[in-house]
Amino acid sequence: MSIFSKIMRGEIPCYKIAENESCFAFLDINPKAKGHTLVIPKKEVDYLFDLEDDEYIALQKFAKKIAEAQKKAFNCKRICTAVIGYEVPHAHIHLLPSNSMADATLSGKTKTFSKEEMAEIAEQIQKYLG
Ligand code: 5GP
Repeated sequence: MSIFSKIMRGEIPCYKIAENESCFAFLDINPKAKGHTLVIPKKEVDYLFDLEDDEYIALQKFAKKIAEAQKKAFNCKRICTAVIGYEVPHAHIHLLPSNSMADATLSGKTKTFSKEEMAEIAEQIQKYLG
């Protein structure tokens, strides 16, 4: 079972943002920006483009909702998305709040937030989810 499946099942703690019947969102533990979120399908598939079309569309629709909430929560210019997947073999979309090209990277320095701050960041995003 992937580490992300364990997170979804509550076996590993996370700062959860939201879930629906097929998708799950939580804060990245090594955030490259305040509110850096991972969106995953509940189905354990390594490579994003191996999802069936309907599963892929459901994931992107879910990601869009989270991104809209992030943008309101942090009043940033854009939510950038990235799909890498070399570290964790469970498909995931990075949602990265950004205000400039320099922010829009996963190669930058990891930001440090306390547990309380991470919980607050998750709540800030949740506040804007319908
Ligand atoms: P990628 O596979 O796209 O290169 O990166 C995987 C991402 O998952 C990384 O940004 C990493 O910080 C994040 N990550 C890895 N393990 C955990 C974990 O246990 N909890 C959370 N919340 N994020 C994780």
